[in-house]
Amino acid sequence: MGVRTTAIRLLMPKKRMLMEEALREERIPVEELKKKQWELTQKIIRHAYENVPMYREKFKQAGITPEDIKKPEDMKKIPITTKDDIRNGFPDKILAEGTPPEAIEQKKSSGSTGRPTPYYADTRSYDEERKAIFRIQNAMGISADDSVVLIRNTNPESKRPVRRMMKALFSNTHFISTKEMDLDNMNRYVNFIKKHKPKMIESFPHQILQVAKHMKEKGIRIPVEYVHLIGGNLNDKDREILKEVFDCKIYNHYGAGECMHVAYQCEKLGPYHLEIGRYFVEVIRDGRDAKEGELGEIILTHLYNYAMPLIRYRIGDVALAGGKCNCGRTYPVIKEIKGRTRQMITLPTGVILDPNRVGRTVGRFCMFFDDYQLAYRKDKTLILRIIPKREYSDETEEKILNAVRELTKNSVPIIIKRVKKIDKYGGEDKRMETLAEIPPDLTQANSRA
Ligand SMILES: [Zn+2]
Repeated sequence: MGVRTTAIRLLMPKKRMLMEEALREERIPVEELKKKQWELTQKIIRHAYENVPMYREKFKQAGITPEDIKKPEDMKKIPITTKDDIRNGFPDKILAEGTPPEAIEQKKSSGSTGRPTPYYADTRSYDEERKAIFRIQNAMGISADDSVVLIRNTNPESKRPVRRMMKALFSNTHFISTKEMDLDNMNRYVNFIKKHKPKMIESFPHQILQVAKHMKEKGIRIPVEYVHLIGGNLNDKDREILKEVFDCKIYNHYGAGECMHVAYQCEKLGPYHLEIGRYFVEVIRDGRDAKEGELGEIILTHLYNYAMPLIRYRIGDVALAGGKCNCGRTYPVIKEIKGRTRQMITLPTGVILDPNRVGRTVGRFCMFFDDYQLAYRKDKTLILRIIPKREYSDETEEKILNAVRELTKNSVPIIIKRVKKIDKYGGEDKRMETLAEIPPDLTQANSRA
């Protein structure tokens, strides 16, 4: 055990207690976990109904009261809460009456595909969130003594010197701020990583990818054990670039600003374990629970945000239901997080094009362009935007066009447009290789109509 871990054990009894609880909880028998989860679910539903104007209205419109929600299957009687509901109701209709001011922290989600959503976090839920972080770190074998580099688009380093000193004493974490991704800075990032020899680098996908592409171009390799992607994932082709330059395993967990740390991968790097102690999670397809291996929309009920309850919240992400993990953790799993609902292009034939599928086709030509985006427009046509390299020719374009036609079985018209820039989305500069102007609503029956 290293110096920092020992210091935490001796000097930070609360942190130590939370760490121990965190690891115990993910192995409690699943029936016991589910019973507790359902108690917390009913409790927050009652609280929302009694104290939040928006939920009183929603329940009234649906002709139900919390008394009608007796078992988990009854959750489907409760109408979905959308991001528009939150934006339109902010602040008076969504903030719980009687919340003590010190429990409220106002924040803003990055809005990776649309407008940012303002929300209130409940400071009383932070210990539960910290436990989720301990579970994530434990899965990667990270302790306080291990060097960790966090790549962020703002510098979260505290300005207060005492706090900074304490942090340095108890953790070996180093921040890089990536406001400007120009060449000078690229070299600086690479040197920073070299200097700190991290066991893990944590970053938004797009930002670490840019660093990795730069390293690949310059022939630089820096082995680290894990790259931890937050706020999204990368397609398989881009993941290969990371693995090549960092000689690493890629770890991913799932969550968003208003719903932090919902699901995490264990050391098996397979399916995602659900934080069922903190969320009631549904994966919905055509208005019902998605079956094993089916694609569905993630619907979340936050069990600890009493300041701004989120009941059956449509977060805008898609997952593959089902899966199994034999690591010994009792938290149930879902197979895979597929990404934003807005990234799922559903063709009239029912074929779904996700970033991976499109990446496998268009990515074959990556030596001819810097970036691309396939967008499905309201008028049911596809437009492929490409930032060409010098090598790109009419002939290349014809080949790409034919490949995409084959992929879509010629079911919709396609045009290719050469562009200088492709929009990035949200605070984390999310790259959207696929974009549906009208995303499917899987929470409704006949969602593929
Ligand atoms: Zn596992």
